[in-house]
Amino acid sequence: MINYLSDTITLPTDAMMQSIQEAKLGDDVYGQDETVNHLEEFAAKLTGKEAACFMPSGTMANLASIMAYCPRGTKALVGDESDIYIFEAGGASVCGGIMYEPIRTQSDGSLSIEDLTNAIPIDKNDPQFALPALICLENTHNRCGGKALSLDYLSEIKRFGDENHIPIYMDGARVFNAALSLGVDIKEITQHVDSLQFCLSKGLSAPVGSIVSGTKQHINEVRRIRKMLGGGMRQAGILAAPALVALQTMIDRLTEDHQKAKRLAKELEAIDGIEVETKDVHSNIIMFKIINENFTWKSFLEAAEKNNVIFSEMGYGRIRAVIHRHITDDDITSTIKIIKEILHSNIIKAY
Ligand SMILES: *Cc1c(COP(=O)(O)O)cnc(C)c1O
Repeated sequence: MINYLSDTITLPTDAMMQSIQEAKLGDDVYGQDETVNHLEEFAAKLTGKEAACFMPSGTMANLASIMAYCPRGTKALVGDESDIYIFEAGGASVCGGIMYEPIRTQSDGSLSIEDLTNAIPIDKNDPQFALPALICLENTHNRCGGKALSLDYLSEIKRFGDENHIPIYMDGARVFNAALSLGVDIKEITQHVDSLQFCLSKGLSAPVGSIVSGTKQHINEVRRIRKMLGGGMRQAGILAAPALVALQTMIDRLTEDHQKAKRLAKELEAIDGIEVETKDVHSNIIMFKIINENFTWKSFLEAAEKNNVIFSEMGYGRIRAVIHRHITDDDITSTIKIIKEILHSNIIKAY
């Protein structure tokens, strides 16, 4: 299989498996797991924040963060193409009594200041309105094809948040991809947000988990909500150990994924019947469409799968390819050959 489904499919490295064997463990709900404590300290420092909390998933990291910022009956301003809005089962509404206000997502993954301004009531004392308590950004932006938000935009949005007394939260599931794409230290990005989460289990290849980092106060609150949601884990050092290996050894190699993504996009673009939506590839995600009267996105995905190539659909018939550690240059060569055969000779059978 050549599997472009997601970077979440990456398996732990040998060094990660070894680290699990050797991890010093304790009960993390009592703060006694040394490995978790080490991971949290390391992650806080890496992101330039006061504190960090290890979470079982990015979804729980986002939910706990939103709940920590937003009292019941307030609004979280979220992109209408964001993971938080689309892929997280409405958790903040269900668990927190929080209203998601979907803001149009621009093609570069940003939310415009104008649209955000319109989501803030002119008179905050008018009792008719739910008040915004948080702005959520996504970086890199998945459904915008892995776009990295620019530092200029981030500083503008932070100023806007400060002026309006609304904190800025970043769903930075792939924020290390963003930093590498911009060629900056991660702190250049994180300085513009009050808090963020990032995933350990995507391109970084750890088996499980995310980190929330932010102020001590925010992390204390996130930790309480994590417990409430059932995310307090006991000997979690088993998971924290490979996560530490991921942060210590797996960040820089993400540039290889970016290079391969650029190559795949370029070669896809050259195929008659394929339109690459995100020609300007920033990171490890490519979106493309099939423009061929014999295929819908669905029949194309089926034909690809019969030939052992797996993609996914990301709304509006867009097909997503995610590059990760297990995709080789040879895989890309084979992928292009297979796609050409599918589209141009209508051979759907495996060869
Ligand atoms: C994967 C992802 C999440 C959720 O992380 P899980 O660990 O799968 O729950 C959140 N936001 C974005 C942008 C993601 O890509």
